[in-house]
Amino acid sequence: MKSEKLPAMGKRIGFFFHSIRFRLVLWFAAILAIVLAAFSGFVYYRQSIDIQATAVYGLERKMALLNHTLTISSAGFSYPQGILQDTDVLILASSDGQVVASHGPIPTEDASALASRAIQEHAEHGNPPDGYVTWSQGALKPKANYLFVSVPLETPFGWNGLVILGSPLDPTGSHASLIFTLVAGSLLTLAIALLGGFWLADRAMRPVHTITQTARTIGETDLNRRLNMKTKDELGELANTFDAMLGRLQAAFERQRQFVADASHELRTPLTIVNLETSRVLANRRTPEEYQQALAVVHSENDFMSSLVNDLLTLARMDAGQTVVEKVPVDLSDVAVETIERLTPLSNRNGVKLETGELPEVRILGDRKYLNQMISNLVENGIKYTTGEDKHVRIETGRSNGNAWVRVSDSGPGIAPEHLPHLFDRFYRIDKSRTREDSGDGNHPTPGGSGLGLSIVQWIARVHEGDIHVESTVGVGTSFEARFKAI
Ligand code: ADP
Repeated sequence: MKSEKLPAMGKRIGFFFHSIRFRLVLWFAAILAIVLAAFSGFVYYRQSIDIQATAVYGLERKMALLNHTLTISSAGFSYPQGILQDTDVLILASSDGQVVASHGPIPTEDASALASRAIQEHAEHGNPPDGYVTWSQGALKPKANYLFVSVPLETPFGWNGLVILGSPLDPTGSHASLIFTLVAGSLLTLAIALLGGFWLADRAMRPVHTITQTARTIGETDLNRRLNMKTKDELGELANTFDAMLGRLQAAFERQRQFVADASHELRTPLTIVNLETSRVLANRRTPEEYQQALAVVHSENDFMSSLVNDLLTLARMDAGQTVVEKVPVDLSDVAVETIERLTPLSNRNGVKLETGELPEVRILGDRKYLNQMISNLVENGIKYTTGEDKHVRIETGRSNGNAWVRVSDSGPGIAPEHLPHLFDRFYRIDKSRTREDSGDGNHPTPGGSGLGLSIVQWIARVHEGDIHVESTVGVGTSFEARFKAI
């Protein structure tokens, strides 16, 4: 049990480190850390400048006061109380770098080193009239940076030297507390930002989790499930797209299921007819005429099944995108003439006159084989469904508004308006019994339609970036017109 849990936990931890949530928060924290560091650095730098300026100002002020009040005698030096603080350092250095007198918390050796350095700097840079100032910082006491100013001094009794005055750079320790404030504040901000970031990222990613969970549970059989997320943000849009995709998939599956059911149904009828007919004939001895009649039925049903299987194959290839349509310049009137020549025997057999209207040259980019099949399907339908005395099917081509068209019209029974929207649906037949009527020659029935012909016609038109239109008047006739972009 424990050994099963461990890999699962490891997987979850691994997933967490690879999750968008984690990476988002990490990036956010990294950017915030950089911004905080830059901000803290800037504040620290500004504060340092301010502290230095304050210290310089204080030191100069004290030095100015001392300059007026310092009394030097051979016995030593004195100055009024209150000018210097306990932390201040005052050194009197002779011109040869010796410490004459000192005051404040500075060890003797530091005072000597400071005095000789100040004398040396004054010697190097000369003595400007307003008093040359040298700043130096040294650790006089642990953790206390000092700032020094030195000015030359001449006494009436002929003693020359330097007065060196030093004060702590940051007597109140504001630098240290600023560093503490900045570091603590930055860390706290970062921690809050990390926690807040995780919370926010978690909230933002929750819909993704829902989508994943739902997608995981959706199978082939329950494609009717939807996310139904009502949010108007990007994830809501993603969920809507996902729902729309599910809708399309469901419709496609439904179409597929229907297609298989219809195909099986269509095949079952001729198979049953063949079975019944052969069983009937084989049950007793028959006359040659009876055998001939039975074979004619089998032959006709076989024809029907062949054409159905062909159509099914064509549609299956079309659906699978396996059909290769090679588009080359084709003259539609040429294809029409070819079709007429091929179908004339069929039309003669059915007593239908194949007429040609105007057939001017109209060129389009297309695949001759498929265009031929399209016009053939339309003409065959015309021949099949045309009834009455004067049966004729007419083919014409033309060009209008930059489009090339081919029209097949017949003097058939026409199609009622309520059927027109479904005419191109697969397996749609207006009158199922009518399509399997007797051919009229008394021998065998005409191979009936399966309701796939017009679906194939529509597919061919669309694959050529064209479309197919139908106009029909009951009792007058039907006209199909395929339109393409002319070249
Ligand atoms: P089928 O193989 O049954 O002919 P189609 O897809 O070609 O299938 O046609 C679908 C249905 O449309 C046919 O069953 C028929 O009822 C009707 N139809 C097609 N063409 C015509 C036409 N020219 N005149 C009357 N009805 C037609």
